[in-house]
Amino acid sequence: MSTSFSARVLKWFDKHGRKHLPWQQDINAYRVWLSEIMLQQTQVTTVIPYFERFIARFPTVQSLAAAPIDEVLHLWTGLGYYARARNLHKCAQTVVKNYGGEFPVTVDELAELPGIGRSTAGAIASIAYQQRAAILDGNVKRVLARYHAVDGWPGQTDVVTRLWEIAGQYTPKSRANHYTQAMMDMGATLCTRSKPKCEVCPLREGCIAYAQGNPQDYPGKKPKKTLPEKAVQLLMLRNPAGDLLLQQRPAQGIWGGLWSFPELAIDADAVEHAADYFGKVIEHEVWDSYRHTFSHYHLDITPVLIQLAKTPQAIGEVATHWYNPHQPDALGLAAPVKKLLEKLAQLDPRTAAATRSPKRKP
Ligand code: SF4
Repeated sequence: MSTSFSARVLKWFDKHGRKHLPWQQDINAYRVWLSEIMLQQTQVTTVIPYFERFIARFPTVQSLAAAPIDEVLHLWTGLGYYARARNLHKCAQTVVKNYGGEFPVTVDELAELPGIGRSTAGAIASIAYQQRAAILDGNVKRVLARYHAVDGWPGQTDVVTRLWEIAGQYTPKSRANHYTQAMMDMGATLCTRSKPKCEVCPLREGCIAYAQGNPQDYPGKKPKKTLPEKAVQLLMLRNPAGDLLLQQRPAQGIWGGLWSFPELAIDADAVEHAADYFGKVIEHEVWDSYRHTFSHYHLDITPVLIQLAKTPQAIGEVATHWYNPHQPDALGLAAPVKKLLEKLAQLDPRTAAATRSPKRKP
């Protein structure tokens, strides 16, 4: 039988694992917690000087809790993700207030503290308290997803549940502290996102993604949202003077309160509709459709330019405005409408006349 997963990881740790990082000396929950928060989304080499400055200024959780937040933020400057620094301060104050200045020992209690998720709680419990507690940070997710060829994006509940199950099974009873450190190190240095170093990986035997030849396919990527599509016609109704009819949109819904061209269902007859509601149509021109994307759907717009024989008198209940593209009024315009009006202004004979340079008198 092949050597167990954790035995191989620990053997690798004894030979290659990092053992001289500042937070690996004088280990206690405060130092492990501080390093784990700093290491979220940040590389070890960046964290080291920050950790050393923090520990020099705040050697205990009590000193951190008592510090003004401005000083904490000042020392954090450059590490990014400032919510981490605020939570760090809040967490230190909670530990002092609710736990007498000693970090709680169970994963559940640790995970309740501000800024500490289940994985960070596992890291503190295993490294500082040597408990058999699993972790599942980004690096470990990658190693386990590849080793077991777990399909799907770890943001999905069923995928992350499966990965936690695997993580829990492999975490050994003894040396959980070294195992945790080793898994983080292996994810960061061997089983890297691109070009994993499988040839020197102690988990090569049994790694399904390696056997399949596709480690890069794991873990699965966040699925791209497929947005629904809608299609409308925008009626660019022009009166004999060359002005264009705009209507104010209702306060609720897209382009709320902005001015836009009248909208019509994509399959309706634009000319018939214009004739029914706005009077005789002299000519019309269907422009090329284009796509405007909102956060929640794509809108395919087909603009239709309609030349009316006369300016209609009353036009329904909606607030309307005849817009002179040559002398535009300051109106709130929906972005696609603004673009269309700019194009219409170029076609407007009055614009051409206005921009034509005046002839010099001899
Ligand atoms: S063999 Fe390759 S893909 Fe598999 S765990 Fe090791 S480094 Fe990752």
